[in-house]
Amino acid sequence: MSTLNEVGVRDSWRCWLCDEPVDPDASVNAARGPSVDGGASPKGKKAAAGRQRLAHRACNTRKGAVKPVVAWSSELFVVEPAPIVSTVERLTRKGGREVVARCPSQLDAEKASLWLLDRLSRFAPELAVTTQVEAGGGQFLLVLRAV
Ligand SMILES: [Zn+2]
Repeated sequence: MSTLNEVGVRDSWRCWLCDEPVDPDASVNAARGPSVDGGASPKGKKAAAGRQRLAHRACNTRKGAVKPVVAWSSELFVVEPAPIVSTVERLTRKGGREVVARCPSQLDAEKASLWLLDRLSRFAPELAVTTQVEAGGGQFLLVLRAV
């Protein structure tokens, strides 16, 4: 149980996949109970241990059998949003910048930008990123850049 408690405290008892609170006192056998997930793309046993994340039992990716999925908020107005998990993996590996969504208005793009930075601060705390909104072709591009 010590690993679960350590990971839970580090992740503030919030599920890294669905971003909702995890009850530390819930049964570990309950679907909404706490569990330790392997984290994203672990390389080697040592790295994998350092990347353990807190997840609801039902959200847990079960040792990589299921690829983790992080959903964009349904309250955002985004067109063709990029898959968050693979975008984060690429930026972590190679750096650079990627267009992650297109929005019909600048306000929509700014809302999506704020949401994404907040979400990534918990999903990928080691990845330092900034966002930029660029106008182009009558729409607004949301760009995520590794710094
Ligand atoms: Zn969850």
